[in-house]
Amino acid sequence: MAPIAVTPPCEPVTTITKPYSHGLAELDASLLQTTLTTSPRPVPALGSPEMASQRTCTDHMIQATWNSETGWSAPTLTPYGPLSLMPTASCLHYATECFEGMKLYRGFDGKLRLFRPDLNCKRMLVSTNRISLPSFPPDELLKLIAKLCATDGPRWLPKDRPGSFLYIRPTMIATDPALGVQRPTEAMLYVILTCFAPMDDVPGGMKLLASQDDMVRAWPGGFGYAKVGANYGPSLVAQGEARRRGYHQILWLFGDECYVTEAGASNFFVVWRTKEEGKLQLVTASLDERIVLDGVTRRSVLELARTRLADASAAAEEEGLEPLEVVERRYTMFEVEEAAREGRLVEAFGAGTAWFVAPVGKIHFRGKDIEVPQSEGDGGRYTKAVKRWLKGIMWGEEGSEAHEWGYVVEEK
Ligand SMILES: *Cc1c(COP(=O)(O)O)cnc(C)c1O
Repeated sequence: MAPIAVTPPCEPVTTITKPYSHGLAELDASLLQTTLTTSPRPVPALGSPEMASQRTCTDHMIQATWNSETGWSAPTLTPYGPLSLMPTASCLHYATECFEGMKLYRGFDGKLRLFRPDLNCKRMLVSTNRISLPSFPPDELLKLIAKLCATDGPRWLPKDRPGSFLYIRPTMIATDPALGVQRPTEAMLYVILTCFAPMDDVPGGMKLLASQDDMVRAWPGGFGYAKVGANYGPSLVAQGEARRRGYHQILWLFGDECYVTEAGASNFFVVWRTKEEGKLQLVTASLDERIVLDGVTRRSVLELARTRLADASAAAEEEGLEPLEVVERRYTMFEVEEAAREGRLVEAFGAGTAWFVAPVGKIHFRGKDIEVPQSEGDGGRYTKAVKRWLKGIMWGEEGSEAHEWGYVVEEK
């Protein structure tokens, strides 16, 4: 076994045996070494097949490597291209991989923006911790992401395409070239930007297929709260089945009680009236059991609804909406079914970076389709209000230029 590099003499044994300890180089964005491409690739036209293929990446990528003896290398910004890994690399065998998903927006005011990127960088650290990948200062990751966005944003999101976006994929993998099942001692962080088509315009709303008793996405004590690759590969059988049967996503239920958790890689919300008092509520699964991902969009929807829909006067300013109560709790598919049957189900939507805010039109559960009302034809009034608020912040629409959730990327 390799010796541990910097070990102060009186360190307790527990810290000595850690694969990383203090004294190692931290991830440091100020050390970035840049090599620009000499052959920039054509930027696909809006609406083209390449744009939607999720295969087209921009010209550059960020990389940094880590090992347990020296810590983080100086990060690099280099032309986009393949990685070199040994066939024994840990991530290829033991799912020592995690990632983030965020977007870079070209605003209607001409600015490039990220949306609450500090939350993504912190969540990435939660994910790396869960699978014993190395720590890093989240702010340094954010600086690296911003640097890549400032480099490729101007050409790949030209100013004459306001309202467009790129998808940002920060990734960390363990690269140890050894088959031993053990904590990683080598890792790589990289960040890429890909072209991505909008997915929130689903005519008639998304159709969801509720998961069956024989498949669970996440469980208490597991890792459903982390964006680790191990959560996604095994879900694709169910997702493929959903697609084959004409549904867009799986609505993941948990346990015999059929607790509603998430829809694909989006958090799931319903608006309903309570059985007892007819009170209007916006409901989503709580994070308490750690089987639901702490979505940045989820959190933002909750925070906005709490401030803008909490009381009658605030809600009335939003085009005369009725105020509602915001609730995070366990709730079951049987409650949703009952609300629909009794005419109390008002709307439902998925919320996440990839699908943005997507109205749900139908949920198939135990042999029956539950129809979700679409009060405005293509989604409900609350779904639309939430979407409008978020869009305003992400794309810097009128009055939202300076919202604290919008992180402006300075272009040269
Ligand atoms: C990424 C993801 C979400 C959405 O999170 P955002 O931060 O809003 O993009 C929700 N659920 C799962 C399982 C996810 O992977």
